[in-house]
Amino acid sequence: MSPSSPAGSSSSSLSLDYTNVLLALPDENIPSSHPDLKSHTISTIGGYPTFPPAANIPKDINCGICHKPIPLLSQVYCPLENGENDRTLYVFACARLKCQKRDGSVRAFRASIRNEEYVQDVEEKRKIAETQAAAEREKARKNPFTLSSETQPNGSALFGSAQPLFGAPSISPNPFASSAAPTPSAELTPDLSKLTISASTPSSSSTTLSPPLPAYQPAQYLSTIEEYLPPPEDVELDSDDDEIENDEDMKATMLDDTWERMLPKHLDEVFQTFVKRLESSDGGSKQVLRYEFNGIPLPYSSSSPITKRLFPGCDKPLGKDEELDINSLYKSNSDIIPNCTKCRGKRTFELQLVPYLISVLEPRNISTTGEVPIKANKKLSEEERKKELNDLANKIKSNNKDNLDEEGEMEWGNILVFGCENDCIGFNEEFVGVEWEMSLNM
Ligand SMILES: [Zn+2]
Ligand SMILES: [Zn+2]
Repeated sequence: MSPSSPAGSSSSSLSLDYTNVLLALPDENIPSSHPDLKSHTISTIGGYPTFPPAANIPKDINCGICHKPIPLLSQVYCPLENGENDRTLYVFACARLKCQKRDGSVRAFRASIRNEEYVQDVEEKRKIAETQAAAEREKARKNPFTLSSETQPNGSALFGSAQPLFGAPSISPNPFASSAAPTPSAELTPDLSKLTISASTPSSSSTTLSPPLPAYQPAQYLSTIEEYLPPPEDVELDSDDDEIENDEDMKATMLDDTWERMLPKHLDEVFQTFVKRLESSDGGSKQVLRYEFNGIPLPYSSSSPITKRLFPGCDKPLGKDEELDINSLYKSNSDIIPNCTKCRGKRTFELQLVPYLISVLEPRNISTTGEVPIKANKKLSEEERKKELNDLANKIKSNNKDNLDEEGEMEWGNILVFGCENDCIGFNEEFVGVEWEMSLNM
């Protein structure tokens, strides 16, 4: 891969500085007893999830391996553009040592309920479009030689006739649903998730999980920015010297805390692309979550089974001047991503959690009281931190069953969530693909 290529993009997308991906970054803590803590229309990391009034709302979420309750990593309010529903996604993961790197220890759920306000908006847009369509038809009738007016009344699309007719502006207050025109600067877009409190006073029939279930405390807001990948400053970095220099640069960036421990001995092109894309996004180095409904996920390692299936051929060695164009390899179908268990509709890629989240949700922040654990507030000295890690390593080595029941640092590299394209009503489990952290001796 040439060092001058922007992360994850093919040469044809060089000019595409803004992608369609929304990045979420940790924001301030949510004060305890704040009403946002009981809202399903807020996006958070940590804390307890709030489920909207729906059938089958669970009393807890359990690990598929140890069957014990597991904490929420993130709740994401993400109604679809021009949809009629409130849509909230929830991702949970077991932090117990013995459950690390085992499928079933990470789970994702979706709650979709009808939102009358959205329904009304969609209804109004539909009426306008129908009036326009009728006018077009009338015009066409008068002029039989007009070809472009085969406007169809259109019935059976996803949301009645709404979805395909309107590519128009977003009607939802959702920061994750907009695909607005690029803003000239990459400054933080307003965090709309905080502004929705009045619109949705928590209903008495919504459910917020509570102690003694485990939760990362305190819960934090997520703020969102559009992903902006600045063009490479110098596109003619072709000499060997430059390449070396650039490699050094990249190593320096990667040897940042977040990446150090997961750097494999031989560099995987997929991993390299992953790191570059995350590191090069303007203001996005602390992204914990990437959102693009119906988008293409950013894979983490060519050796993960899910990546091998979604990006066939991604592990083939590249020719000398060849670049990895990961997006062109993407292939998703119901053999790889099973359809929605409720409506049988297709599931599509929706969001992914990336490793910076692990450094935000530390095991010492897990609490079963709803309070922030005392030790979480304490800033550890370098020595104390080393001791903590050492103790942990010893516990793992001793392989004592009781010890492995303890919570430790999570060991995933990428969590991919695929949600129902139909946004079917209710509370349902969605498909989650986990790429586990690569071992250092690959
Ligand atoms: Zn578990
Ligand atoms: Zn469905």
